[in-house]
Amino acid sequence: FRHGESSNVAVTTPSGIVNFGQNLPLVVVAGPCSVENEQMIVETALRVKAAGAKFLRGGAYKPRTSPYAFQGHGESALNLLAAAREASGLGVITELMDADDLEKLSEVADVIQIGARNMQNFSLLKKVGAQDKPVLLKRGMSATIEEWLMAAEYILAAGNPNVILCERGIRTFDRQYTRNTLDLSVIPVLRSLTHLPIMIDPSHGTGFAEHVPSMAKAAIAAGTDSLMIEVHPNPAKAMSDGPQSLTPADFDQLMQDLAVIGKSV
Ligand code: PEP
Ligand code: MN
Repeated sequence: FRHGESSNVAVTTPSGIVNFGQNLPLVVVAGPCSVENEQMIVETALRVKAAGAKFLRGGAYKPRTSPYAFQGHGESALNLLAAAREASGLGVITELMDADDLEKLSEVADVIQIGARNMQNFSLLKKVGAQDKPVLLKRGMSATIEEWLMAAEYILAAGNPNVILCERGIRTFDRQYTRNTLDLSVIPVLRSLTHLPIMIDPSHGTGFAEHVPSMAKAAIAAGTDSLMIEVHPNPAKAMSDGPQSLTPADFDQLMQDLAVIGKSV
């Protein structure tokens, strides 16, 4: 790869192949933080698909700070994701926390997400490196760019070339008005260091739904290849991350605004 060039990650979805990479249409991943029940995940899938998303996100296994918080519905949520995938034709991205769940998660996931908290779980990285599904590697909340790229290298070195890097905000000092600090400077920096496609997650990156549209647009201006946006049919009732989740109507508006500012969807 030449300096500044990006490789494509081609993902097979029920609606055909979707390519992540530079100079390609923006790929938008949308959906709730957690899969809560069949009705909400299918409804969200159909709404985000109609707005132009290519992938449905939704956690079955949730890495929660507190062991007493909702941990995700696990295997039964994977079945609900399968139903939403079938109903919508969207590809599915969901997080793998435990290598023991890899086989059953792979039956529904078109892309396997490794979350921020597992970015340096090297045994997990080796496991997803040794299988065929593309991997979305989120940046650890306190990871340097070097550490993040080396984590990606574990997956590549194990034989899987299909890695997408997702910036989701890093830990700085404000916790009140921003949940994390979304580091958009990684876009040009990564472009100079790696050929891997880039995704930006302004939902976890800001923690507040009202700030998501501005940062999504800023990420496009800086050259991101894809976006991850949390969307929930009723954010006030969400079992996790409601404050940062857009309603389907807000998401639809955002997608229309993104189409106007540049990179086509
Ligand atoms: C998520 O995307 O659901 C998630 C838990 O994100 P992160 O790993 O970035 O905190
Ligand atoms: Mn979340």
